[in-house]
Formats: sequence, C-alpha cells, structure tokens
Amino acid sequence: MDFLPVFFDVKGQPCLVVGGGAVAGRKIRLLLEAGACVHVVAPQLADAVAKLLRNGEITHRAGVFDARDFGDHMLVFAATDDESTNALVSREAKARRLPINVVDAPALCSFVMPSIIDRSPVVVAVSSGGASPVLARLLRARLETLIPASYGRLAGLVREFRKTVQKKFATTDERRRFWERVLQGPIAEMMFAGQERAARTALEQTIASSTHTASAQGEVYLVGAGPGDPDLLTFRALRLLQQADVLVYDRLVSKQILDLARKDAERIYVGKQAADHVLPQEQINELLVRLAKEKKCVVRLKGGDPFVFGRGGEEIETLMQEGVTFQVVPGITAASGCAAYSGIPLTHRDFAQSVVFATGHLKDNSIDLNWRALIQPHQTIVFYMGLTGLKVICRELIKHGMSPQTPMGLIERGTTLDQKVYVGTLETMPGIYDNSNIKAPTLIIVGAVVNLHEKLKWFEPQQG
Ligand code: SAH
Repeated sequence: MDFLPVFFDVKGQPCLVVGGGAVAGRKIRLLLEAGACVHVVAPQLADAVAKLLRNGEITHRAGVFDARDFGDHMLVFAATDDESTNALVSREAKARRLPINVVDAPALCSFVMPSIIDRSPVVVAVSSGGASPVLARLLRARLETLIPASYGRLAGLVREFRKTVQKKFATTDERRRFWERVLQGPIAEMMFAGQERAARTALEQTIASSTHTASAQGEVYLVGAGPGDPDLLTFRALRLLQQADVLVYDRLVSKQILDLARKDAERIYVGKQAADHVLPQEQINELLVRLAKEKKCVVRLKGGDPFVFGRGGEEIETLMQEGVTFQVVPGITAASGCAAYSGIPLTHRDFAQSVVFATGHLKDNSIDLNWRALIQPHQTIVFYMGLTGLKVICRELIKHGMSPQTPMGLIERGTTLDQKVYVGTLETMPGIYDNSNIKAPTLIIVGAVVNLHEKLKWFEPQQG
C-alpha cells in the first residue's frame, strides 16, 4: 500500500489553500463541505472564489505565499498555476511536518486527495495514489451506481438504533448477524424507496421479536425491466435482481436481463402471449402471494413499466389483500424506449403537443376504443399490443376522420440489436405488414412525428 487512507475531522479547523483559481476553488468547496475554516492566500481570486469571500465563507490574504501563512493551519493545499510556488509551499510544509497536498503533483504531496462518493455519514474514497486520477474517477462512477443515493439515511437509521440493538444482543457476533440481515433485506430497501417511517417500524418490530426478523417475512418487488436493452434497467432494478431468491418473469423480459440475477435464484416463467396466456392472471397473483409467504424475496419482472399495460395494479391489489409487503420499481416503458431508439420524438413543438398510450389488443375481434378521443389534432397516438389488430386500427382511424396519409411507424423489438423500424401511412401500412415478416413485440406510433424518423434515426443495428 503506497498511502494510508485516513479521514480527517476538519470541522472548525483552520486549513490553508494557496492559490485562488478554479482548481483551488474545487478544493476550497470540498473543505467547506467538511466544515473546515478556509484561509486563502493568492494575489487574485477567480470569480467563484471571490464570491465565497463576499459571502463570508472564507478568509483571504491578497499576496504571494510566505511561510508565515502557515500559522496554526492543520492542512495545506497548494493549487497555484506556478510550479515554483507549489514546490516552495510543499518544501516549507514538509519541513514543518504539515500535511501538504499539491494538486496534480503527487511527488510534492504528503497526502493525496481521493475521488469521493458522498453518502454522508458514509463516505467512500477512491485513490490511485496519484498514478491515474482518471482511473480513480471512473471507478468512482462505477461505485456511484452501486451505492444507492439514500445510503446515508440508512446509516443514520443504524446509528439511531445501535444502542438498542447492543442491549438486545449479548455478543458481537449476534449483533453483526442481525445488522447484516437488516442491511441487506427489505428494511434497507424501504429506506432506499423513501419509506422511512415503515422502515423504522419494521426495524423496531424486528428488534422486539429478534427471532422474527423482517427479512424472514418475504417480500415482492414488482420491477419494470425496460424495453429490452439491459442497460436501460434502473439501478434499483439491478440491485433487486441480484438479491432475489425467485424471479417471476414474462415473455418480454430478455435473457440478458435474467442473466443479471443471482445464478442460484429460482426462475419461473409465467409468459403471456396474446390469446395464449401461459398462466392466467389470477394464478400469477396467487403464485406471488405463496412465494412471499414462503419467506422468499420475490422479484416480479415485467417488460417496460409495470404500470403501463402491465397489469401491475392487479398484482399488487392481491398482495395488499393478503398483507404481503411489496414495492413497485418503474421501468422505461416501450413507448419511451422505442421512440428514443427510432428517432421518433413523441412530442415536438411543431407537430405534437400531446401523446396518448392506447391498447390495440383485440377483444372478440374488435378494438373497443374511443377513436374520436384518440384522433385529435397535434396528438401522437401510441398503440401497445397492436400488431394483430393493425388492419382494424388503420381502418378505424380513417373511418373516424383521420387522413389516410397520416404517417404510421412500427417499431419491432425496439432498443434491442434486432430492432426494425417500418414507416408508412394509415393507407400503406397494412400492405407493408403483409409483405414483411413483422413479429411481436411491436409498437405502433401514429402522427406527424413519425416523419422525423428519416432525419433523426441514429440506432440502426441491422445495418451495422
Ligand atoms: N408494460 C409494458 C407493456 C406491456 S404490453 C411497457 O411498459 O412497455 C406489451 C406491448 O408492449 C407489446 O405488444 C408491444 O406493443 C410493446 N412492447 C414492449 N416491448 C417492446 C419492444 N422492445 N419493442 C416494441 N414494442 C414493445
């Protein structure tokens, strides 16, 4: 190990920054965030630093560095654009055994600054020992995605209950096991979802009946898996996938996404195909309840967003009736995914000021929709599940007054490497459909915005 990582408590402590430019400004802000009293020595101050001075957040001596500036400072930073000044500050500070950091000059430093992931009171610091700040920053970005934004609040909750837990459990081992369970289970997830009160209650209950831990209750997460590209999962979806004991998924969820789950997680397919439901909805609802009652962590994965034509509402209704705790994690719905990846904005200042999502699912061979409400000037219509009923849709839109020349786009397997986009009009699309081999899942977009595809298309994996 080249450096010893330590965390300084600089609250209320005088710290010296030599330099008043933009680079110095970044160090100053960091010091202020940690509660330090910052004194700046520099002939001039950049605007942002001058503002801090005006606000009374820092003190300043205008002039070049002099060893007397060290005073009783606890830490020293040199961030001037003059190498000889930086070297001088370093030499003088080292002679006095004062911790010194010189920006971008590891050889002159007695300590280096890490890249920081701030989830106060939890702070993660990453350092490459000055070898490659870019590498440290990249690693930091990866860690940012792994550590939920509300990790700090979770730490706060632990701090609040630490004493109580200490009293309850006699040995360190028991306490460690207890916290491991809590911090990886539903109580932590409640905190991440902002359900702070519920988390506190659950934690109180768990402590009160230490044999009856919340993680032993089972829980269902209704998770939107997005339109196909695994990169479009949310951070929360990914984390829950990696925690799940059981995955309950349907046809739209891609294999690449399932592969992100724990290898030993049980996978249950309850896929749906129009008119060929593998498992009726009621049985899916019952299955979720049963698995949760078996104390499992269940992730119910749905294509797109669970609350957009996903029957997510029905599933949580049953869970609620049965007293099973659950959460809903939104996903990118097919309309957003397909629009973005086909270069067809759903709204546009010149062409569409509103957008409606409709189902094109056939019931008894007819689509029961309020066609007049759909056909509004400057409105984009998106049909989910519309492929089987494509001809009926085109016919009815024309019958109810839409111009046969209205542009229509079909996006097949949007956002995936198999994406295909077909553009036509209400009049020509039935013919295009008959002459191509278009398969589900396909999204239909109707309206003037479809014409923008030609200009704005950027994702064309088929041609690559
Ligand atoms: N809950 C999902 C929609 C389920 S309905 C969501 O929010 O996206 C299923 C319909 O969604 C399909 O018939 C198709 O019209 C559309 N769909 C889902 N994924 C798609 C994709 N990758 N490409 C095109 N259409 C898609």
